Amino acid sequence: MNILLLGSGGREHALAWKLAQSPSLTKLFAAPGNPGIAQNAELVALDATDHAAVIAFCNAQSIGLVVVGPEAPLVDGLTDSLRAEGIAVFGPSKAAAQLEGSKAFTKELCARHNIPTAGFERVRNESEGLAALGKFGAPVVVKADGLAAGKGVTVALTMAEAEEAVREIFSGKFGDAGAEAVIEEFLEGEEASFFALTDGQTVVPLGSAQDHKRVGDGDVGPNTGGMGAYSPAPVLTPLLTGEALERIVVPTVRAMASEGMPYSGVLYAGLMLTKSGVQLIEYNARFGDPECQVLMLRLEDDLVELLLACAQGRLATIAPPRLSPETALTVVMAAEGYPGTPKKGGAIAGVDAAEASGAKVFHAGTAMAEGQLVAAGGRVLNVTARGATVTAAQQRAYAAIDLIKAPDLFCRRDIGWREVAREAE
Ligand code: ATP
Repeated sequence: MNILLLGSGGREHALAWKLAQSPSLTKLFAAPGNPGIAQNAELVALDATDHAAVIAFCNAQSIGLVVVGPEAPLVDGLTDSLRAEGIAVFGPSKAAAQLEGSKAFTKELCARHNIPTAGFERVRNESEGLAALGKFGAPVVVKADGLAAGKGVTVALTMAEAEEAVREIFSGKFGDAGAEAVIEEFLEGEEASFFALTDGQTVVPLGSAQDHKRVGDGDVGPNTGGMGAYSPAPVLTPLLTGEALERIVVPTVRAMASEGMPYSGVLYAGLMLTKSGVQLIEYNARFGDPECQVLMLRLEDDLVELLLACAQGRLATIAPPRLSPETALTVVMAAEGYPGTPKKGGAIAGVDAAEASGAKVFHAGTAMAEGQLVAAGGRVLNVTARGATVTAAQQRAYAAIDLIKAPDLFCRRDIGWREVAREAE
């Protein structure tokens, strides 16, 4: 079967690497891809916002499955356009992708179906927002409704900070994403991510992960797209995983189906493990980046078969995915300046040596310039390794990083620190 993968980050390189291992793959195309993905796929210049062009390509190349990596094409309805043409696609419809695209949508769905999440109020202008703050008191969480690349959320410790966040959202700074906002009760606990595959009816777990969002060691400094992650997340014990599935993920999939918006694809639940149980913080409608990289390193089954079964509504007919019990850990190497303006063009050497040491190096923002691999974005490489423990996986990942010569890149040196500390106890 021929497959088209959309996207260009480390997440998509991990998907391409795993798809390429499938015996049922004939040819993998990726658009736009990156130099790492080019090792596993033929890169094509296709604009995912041009639905007619994607459809024409699929027909011309007899594409049997389209895999959508990032959220933008989902929220933009590309999967609906493809399905209308009879093309199998992994990823939710535009209506179902509202689970990621609108925080107010998700909170109201949870309220209607009794799914545990922080108390909230949906507000449509500044004065409603400021009035709602008074009902919660500080600390309180203020969120722009739509996609704002992680920048639309403020966990406000004081009322002044919260008021400032409300004013910022309604100043128009986030465009359409800030047309509405959600004011939320502050939840206390440790965060973990949980992934499930679903075809709209059947739900199968695909493992857990924890990531590090802040740029600096010790989880300090500005937020990023993620500086590293590991899977599984031992804090999400089998008991808590069962609770997340039974009280949050399965009821959500049922709710979406019963409301006429069946959700198919990967459902990524951001969870808070509170004293009073597991609560939903947010949903994402696609794999996390860099969480996908660690999940793919642990997945022991054929990814094509799994994604195709989701796309074709027959997940109940195949065996659920098996993941290695080992830990996979990934460290993001980013360009100097990230998450501000990254310094592009820095030379990268030693990726082969890092891989020869047993790690897998996924490319994110890389490019080839005159035969040389260079940095071309904020997050550049994801150095990923497996081990019997988080500590062992961490040591392997950093040993591999030390073989990479890239003076303009930096990384955190403490990915996995929570678990490494627990393992040392
Ligand atoms: P991202 O894209 O970074 O995942 P997002 O913009 O989709 O984020 P959320 O995941 O809803 O927004 O929130 C971002 C972060 O804010 C969460 O990972 C969590 O650390 C914190 N947060 C969100 N809601 C709450 C809450 N109710 N209580 C405490 N912390 C929260």
